[in-house]
Amino acid sequence: MNKDKILKQFNNNHLLSLNNLIDILPEIEKSVIYRNLKRLERDNIIKEVFTNSKETFYELSSLDDHQHLICESCGHVETIQKKIKIKNFSEVTNLTGICSDCS
Ligand SMILES: [Zn+2]
Ligand SMILES: [Zn+2]
Repeated sequence: MNKDKILKQFNNNHLLSLNNLIDILPEIEKSVIYRNLKRLERDNIIKEVFTNSKETFYELSSLDDHQHLICESCGHVETIQKKIKIKNFSEVTNLTGICSDCS
């Protein structure tokens, strides 16, 4: 099933955008990938993580709580494990900055 194929990609990759999936799964029609992505999001299996200038990235909702540090220059994403418990911490938006490769 197409939905399972898409979901499998999320098990192999931390973050994926619609364009990533289109590249990885050329045998599935773009509109079908888009529909399944939206369905997975609606079913709360995946969630929207952040949007850069071009595209929106998604990850599995079941992943442990963590934050993303996104490089404003190259788009590289670092994962920061949440070590402290702060109420509503997950509602803090993603952090942006310049990664060590770009600075
Ligand atoms: Zn993540
Ligand atoms: Zn960078």
